[in-house]
Amino acid sequence: MHPPIPYLDHNATTPCDAAVVEAMAPYWSEHFANPSQRGHRPGLAAAVAVDQGRQTMADVLGVTPSQVIFTSGATEANNLAIKGLSEQRLGHGRHLVTVVTEHASVLEPCRYLERLGFQLTVLPVQPDGRLELAALAGALRPDTVLVSVMAANNEIGVLQDVEAIGNLCRQRQIAYHCDAAQACGHVPLDLEGWGIDLMSLSGHKFYGPKGVGALVVRKGLALAPQVHGGGQEGGYRSGSLSPPLIVGLAKALELALQDQQERAQHLRALREKLWQGLNGLNLPPGVELVRNGCSTHSLPHTLNVTVRGVDGGRLHSQLRRRVALSSGSSCSSATGKPSHVLQSLGRSSAEAAASLRFGLGRGTTWADIEQAWEAVQEALLLSACG
Ligand SMILES: *Cc1c(COP(=O)(O)O)cnc(C)c1O
Repeated sequence: MHPPIPYLDHNATTPCDAAVVEAMAPYWSEHFANPSQRGHRPGLAAAVAVDQGRQTMADVLGVTPSQVIFTSGATEANNLAIKGLSEQRLGHGRHLVTVVTEHASVLEPCRYLERLGFQLTVLPVQPDGRLELAALAGALRPDTVLVSVMAANNEIGVLQDVEAIGNLCRQRQIAYHCDAAQACGHVPLDLEGWGIDLMSLSGHKFYGPKGVGALVVRKGLALAPQVHGGGQEGGYRSGSLSPPLIVGLAKALELALQDQQERAQHLRALREKLWQGLNGLNLPPGVELVRNGCSTHSLPHTLNVTVRGVDGGRLHSQLRRRVALSSGSSCSSATGKPSHVLQSLGRSSAEAAASLRFGLGRGTTWADIEQAWEAVQEALLLSACG
């Protein structure tokens, strides 16, 4: 057995909270019936669990239950939002607007639609990772049907001005989709007040189970279904619902919102200590630390740092045994490509590869933070002497 190492990759996924696991437990083998079968007692019990989960989600998000469409996660929610809205609005226009720092599950559906004949504008960001509102306003056209801009970036933690974006889209009567997978449960969000028409979220990013999420849809907004079948979820997303996952999703969101403010304060303080600690390291000649993304409009628990002047591959292989962190998104790690997000901030591909994303979470301790910067110190000394 290897000794445990600090887990600082909470932007990739969070551990499922013990209370969430407990809430899910009865729905695997005991109350296992299909919630579509309301005609018999066990089916009704499962349906009631799903109804309650939906009600909880609606209550904590400030919407009505019929606005919540359960999906397998944020990837599916993003696909449903982007493809479903675009297909539904075919008669109104074929222009879509998104941003270069979006998650692959937003960019790829947009590019897919572009191949089908839609026109796509992918806006750049400023060097701090934020979208300039004037650039967005300038990109909107009479035939624009959808704007998709995330709330919080998964690699650098930068928050976009969702309220301003939502208001701008509302004025122009353009649908606004917000990928809130990183933001939901971590920073305040106001769907109705900010003019968000479609919002994606994912359970495993806020201490819930993997494999479940939701798309929240403004009342009266129609989408073309993307998964056809038995007509579950109001016809928008067919397939048998999973009572344990839905119960877990709702419980996790409820809990995440309960300690959101306190957790944010605590983790922001720990994150700043980490940044201070890194700045106090003994850096080899020619090595420099650069913080990526806006540090004020950011997720409290995320820190992304480029270690200029070292080889990224060597740096990460040194760190791997000491601390669990990431070089960027889990998706770009899967393809082995340097982060498109960091490159859009002006980092070279070598700099992007030599970047460290620290994602703190509920269980992160002061000792984890110390261990993390000590591990970076050691890795830098080893990388420097070859
Ligand atoms: C994790 C993540 C996704 C994908 O969510 P899944 O539920 O894992 O499919 C999408 N967008 C962002 C910003 C994310 O962080």
